[in-house]
Amino acid sequence: DNVSEGSSVAVIGLGRFGQSVALELMANGSEVLGIDDREEIVQSLNNKLTHVVRANATHPDVLDQLGITDFDRVVVAIGTHLESSILVTSYLLRAGVENIWAKAVSDQHGVILQQLGVRNVVFPEKDMGKRVAHLLQGDLKEFIQIDTNYALAMASATEKLSGVNLNPHELYKKYGVAINSYRDSSGQWNHDLENLHLTPGNVVILGGDPQAIERFASKFL
Ligand code: ADP
Repeated sequence: DNVSEGSSVAVIGLGRFGQSVALELMANGSEVLGIDDREEIVQSLNNKLTHVVRANATHPDVLDQLGITDFDRVVVAIGTHLESSILVTSYLLRAGVENIWAKAVSDQHGVILQQLGVRNVVFPEKDMGKRVAHLLQGDLKEFIQIDTNYALAMASATEKLSGVNLNPHELYKKYGVAINSYRDSSGQWNHDLENLHLTPGNVVILGGDPQAIERFASKFL
């Protein structure tokens, strides 16, 4: 049930987060309705989304008129106005919108949204803060926490790796990390890791426990 080409998404609140979600969805072929009550925001996005409407989303009749229940997904990207976020979300739930994605600006906000019944609560600032902490600790190019005990990271190979046995089994046994793929000097991504030989400038994707990845990266990458 992925957001695929042709799906329709309503984004309520077009601040920095909502805009970024809406524009990325447009770039990937979705039909996007954006709603915000600030005139200058609506103006600036006018030709960039499928529809942009200036409206106060806390008024249920506004959402009804926009046919909000017809959308495949609805994103509530109102953050700092806590009361609006909660009012809009609870109305969407009452109206029967099933696929709601709501942004939380704090843990407490997230708890309230979850208790209301929102299954997809996202914490953009908290998550980005954590990600940046991992990026700088391991000097990584990318870091994505997949599960509490598993992450994927992207890092550049350096000459420090030359003495390391990169056999997947050995590597995992010794360091708790696996190389999942690598980018060679021609820019190609490779998954064939037999007889892997990395040269400085190659880029690797590592998988494993977040701390194991950081230990490995700060030692060898
Ligand atoms: P960000 O940090 O992503 O910029 P904000 O919470 O500051 O998020 O921005 C939320 C956006 O939602 C703002 O553009 C604001 O105008 C809009 N917004 C807030 N309340 C409502 C509402 N009741 N109806 C429509 N838009 C709203």
